[in-house]
Amino acid sequence: MELHELTLKEAISALGAKTISSEELTKAYLTRITKYNRKLHAFITVRFKEAIKEARLADAERKKGTKKPFLGIPVAIKDNFLTQGIRTTSASPVLDDYIPQYDSTVVSRLKNAGVVILGKTNLDAWGHGSSGEHTVYGIPHNPYAYGYVTGGSSSGSAAAVASDFCIAATGSDTGGSNRQPASYCNVVGLKPTYGRVSRYGLVAFASSLDQIGPLTKDVRDCALLLNTIVGHDSRDATSVPMEVPDFTEALTGGIRGLRVGVAREYVPDDLDPAVRGVFDAAVRELERMGAQVDWDVSLPSTPHALACYYIIAPSEASANLARYDGVKYGFSCQDGDGMWDNMEKTRQQGFGDEVKRRIMLGAYALSAGYYDAYYLKALQVRTLIRREFDEAFERFDVLLGLVSPTPAFKLGEKLADPYQMYLSDVFTLPANIAGVPGMSLPAGFVDGEAGERLPVGIQLMARPFDEETLLRAAYAYEQATPWHEQRPEV
Ligand code: GLN
Repeated sequence: MELHELTLKEAISALGAKTISSEELTKAYLTRITKYNRKLHAFITVRFKEAIKEARLADAERKKGTKKPFLGIPVAIKDNFLTQGIRTTSASPVLDDYIPQYDSTVVSRLKNAGVVILGKTNLDAWGHGSSGEHTVYGIPHNPYAYGYVTGGSSSGSAAAVASDFCIAATGSDTGGSNRQPASYCNVVGLKPTYGRVSRYGLVAFASSLDQIGPLTKDVRDCALLLNTIVGHDSRDATSVPMEVPDFTEALTGGIRGLRVGVAREYVPDDLDPAVRGVFDAAVRELERMGAQVDWDVSLPSTPHALACYYIIAPSEASANLARYDGVKYGFSCQDGDGMWDNMEKTRQQGFGDEVKRRIMLGAYALSAGYYDAYYLKALQVRTLIRREFDEAFERFDVLLGLVSPTPAFKLGEKLADPYQMYLSDVFTLPANIAGVPGMSLPAGFVDGEAGERLPVGIQLMARPFDEETLLRAAYAYEQATPWHEQRPEV
């Protein structure tokens, strides 16, 4: 096995046994990034020199006997996490030269655990998108199929993990941004429960939906990374003060007798037969392992989740993005006629079409006279969706569905039709709306137009703060299937 193929778990053991050094490991990734990032555009910023320096420091610390869980582990960070002294663009020209003064909580926790930061990964600007195409830093290609999208918005993180550019990466998920690209790139992507992980220092998209989670090569790595980033943080008022378990202890135990509900809204009748085939095979596998699968479950408000999300998310985005006025930091246009004109031109020139679409949608939905008809209505639908999840979780331990109705599509295919683009998240949005944890797992491949192998993921969802059951089910499934071991030929 080559160095870059190690999982997080394996790398921790090898570093601990001193059979490899962090410097070797870090260089192995940097070599791959140098060779292939030009083609895949997974990274926006690569820290060639700094990462090696950090790796050498980690090796020196290890020699001195320092014990840290991730000492010398090279990771990638989505470029909407603030990183002190490292450019943080959120993939928008507005923040092209923005260098944060402080670390986001998740980044500082990872640093305390000893990681080496390889660089910052590409995304749809501000997290708005499902294909990775809304970036000004080179459009990411799917590592399994050049010319196909990676999914979004954690496009670069998913592509980087799949291509062995790093051991693991962080992502943010507002409506599916960890799970959908994970599914398109054959990696594991988790959106924890709302409140589980602090968003302090994450570039805010929609604050009542945003959640941070790992993208990893397998489920055990996901649990390991989750262990490090969870926990209460007084700087994020929504982070919940509660005991955090050791998630790796939850992995074993199997799924005999686990009550699995398949919500029919997540597996509609008009699905592509090949995708359907992957899903059915996954269900059979779970049944074979002793899970009690019930096909007859309905969460009837699911079809309204898309409309609900595209009122709430743009409303919150329009408020969060109001801060980019060219006055305090970020891109600033000074050619205008006075302060107000400058602000207007700053936003006109700095924001792309998709961001503007969302700002307009959000400002409209929140405006006096329309607030009741749109925003308030969306909040009511949100309550219904949440309630249906609560009811379903009285009968089931986990809910199973697809991550996305299709595998990765071709670059450009959905760009002209935002509605089609939004539809690729129909199955991931409800978990954000309800705040429940959701996870994407590699489940198989279907053929692309020219015979490309396109990954397909299944989604598991669990009760709020029951990531343990989620991980246990996911791990059992993973152990019984070969999909997570597949690698693309980059
Ligand atoms: N694709 C969804 C959107 O465009 C979700 C994005 C996300 O989770 N950040 O809003």
